[in-house]
Amino acid sequence: MKIYPIETGNFKLDGGAMFGVVPKVLWQRTNPADSNNLIDMAVRCMLIEDGDRLILIDTGTGNKQSDKFFSHYHLFGNASLDNSLKELGFHKDDITDVFLTHLHFDHCGGSIQFNTNKTGYEPAFKNAKFWSNKNHWHWATEPNVREKASFLKENINPIQESGQLSFIELNDNNLIKNAPLGFDILCVDGHTEKQMLPMINYKGQTLVFMADLLPTIGHIPLPYVMGYDVRPLLTMTEKEAFLKLAASKNFMLFLEHDASHEICTVKHTEKGVRLNKTYTFNEIFN
Ligand SMILES: [Zn+2]
Repeated sequence: MKIYPIETGNFKLDGGAMFGVVPKVLWQRTNPADSNNLIDMAVRCMLIEDGDRLILIDTGTGNKQSDKFFSHYHLFGNASLDNSLKELGFHKDDITDVFLTHLHFDHCGGSIQFNTNKTGYEPAFKNAKFWSNKNHWHWATEPNVREKASFLKENINPIQESGQLSFIELNDNNLIKNAPLGFDILCVDGHTEKQMLPMINYKGQTLVFMADLLPTIGHIPLPYVMGYDVRPLLTMTEKEAFLKLAASKNFMLFLEHDASHEICTVKHTEKGVRLNKTYTFNEIFN
């Protein structure tokens, strides 16, 4: 098995929205804001090459939204999904499986593109199965008012219409062992209903794709929860349990949204779990 980080570009979000009730004087130490109060975000996906399978975890924002839509998110940086795949010698058509942690636009927008004559939409990965789960799919296709702006139907409905959609089977537990793609999956419900986090055994380490349970290293202290989360108290409970385990077992935490850090580890302190170290992906897994 070989794993690669896949940079797909950067965007900016309101720092206050990213840290909920935490005051700016505290969050700006780890996530400095610009003059409009915006903080830098990465959209870092992951590629897993495993035998005949080429699995992409999340797909970034894509490029089919209007200029007006994207102007709210201040895209920047030179990286793109296509180029990052190309640099590794791959093409979108090589992808066999697209695993979507959840269906917010910055996680699944790259799954769908305009068709050739721009009359409709089609999957950007024509040979891939797209993986979600039934509960989250239902939640995203009949969205609550709070998340409506993040669940864009043009990112979601064409996946189902293509016939390429598959569901990961949920269980009563929040941990799905040996799920069909060969890694375990942690399910969490604080950020959105049934977000799925891959937990991958790789080169003797447990590598966890943190998605929106831990978007940046600034979100490690328990009250540092995004204003976007639908169940912030539950995020705190889920994050506490997860980070304690991650500190005890020295998990490698892969950060999808941290503009400066690819991987971090955490440690127990008398104040609770805190950042231990940050690494580039290649420092750990070259
Ligand atoms: Zn999200």
